[in-house]
Amino acid sequence: MTDLFTLAGRKALVTGANTGIGQAIAVTLAGQGAHVICAGRRSCDETVAAIETAGGRTQTLLLDFADPMAAQNTFKGADVSILVNNAGIIRRADSTEYSEADWDAVIDVNQKALFFTCQAFGKELIAKGQAGSIVNIASLLSVQGGIRVPAYTASKHAVAGITKILANEWAAHNITVNAIAPGYISTNNTEALRRDTDRNAAILSRIPAGRWGDPDDIGGTAAYLCSRAAKYVTGAVLNVDGGWLAR
Ligand code: NAP
Repeated sequence: MTDLFTLAGRKALVTGANTGIGQAIAVTLAGQGAHVICAGRRSCDETVAAIETAGGRTQTLLLDFADPMAAQNTFKGADVSILVNNAGIIRRADSTEYSEADWDAVIDVNQKALFFTCQAFGKELIAKGQAGSIVNIASLLSVQGGIRVPAYTASKHAVAGITKILANEWAAHNITVNAIAPGYISTNNTEALRRDTDRNAAILSRIPAGRWGDPDDIGGTAAYLCSRAAKYVTGAVLNVDGGWLAR
């Protein structure tokens, strides 16, 4: 029987693959047979070791979105057919105090770099007439307001919008463009919240699953969205959040 979920023969690039959700996605895609390029602004050695220990194929790439246009030449002739835009940052402050520097840094990495990395990938595939899959990492804050994270909320709403417009423009080129909207996942991104006893309790009280998500909870969803099983799924923003009780 044909395996609808295999990624064998595909090459994937995952940004921010050194840790957290990006690491889990890289390891999961490799487990499904993809050759995974682990891209990061620092060493992805831990992720590479995990993939190689499990018998997978991988390589690394230094990619720092301090320059949002950093990936402009990454896809030329690289035969990559899966792009996971996972790299992202969060800066917390009350909206009355939020600085221009924090606004620009968050928008550059989470929004501008994501769009122009999609563009570089899409242009290469369309020029070659090759099918492909993009998975953008959005957030619960792509649909709700959040607190003390104005640039992050704005950028993640933009990720959902960019996902939908590219899905519309590129469906005819057999390029699917979807997003995953994680709820609260236990990574560096949420370390400060988990250390704040009151916030942690308030967050847990609104998660019907009763626990923080693990990065692994996101990996399988990403693999599904890149697989043939999802070939007619495009423009979706999938919540992976253990259920969420809106405020
Ligand atoms: P994380 O552990 O902080 O991972 C963020 C990744 O982005 C790291 O690999 C980080 O590299 C990379 N990154 C940051 N700035 C970069 C830059 N200038 N250039 C290249 N890479 C850069 O947190 P995470 O939770 O796994 O976050 C992954 C994605 O999930 C993000 O887009 C985040 O917004 C999203 N998300 C997370 C949650 C959650 O609850 N954790 C919920 C919703 C959405 P360094 O390790 O070098 O900093």
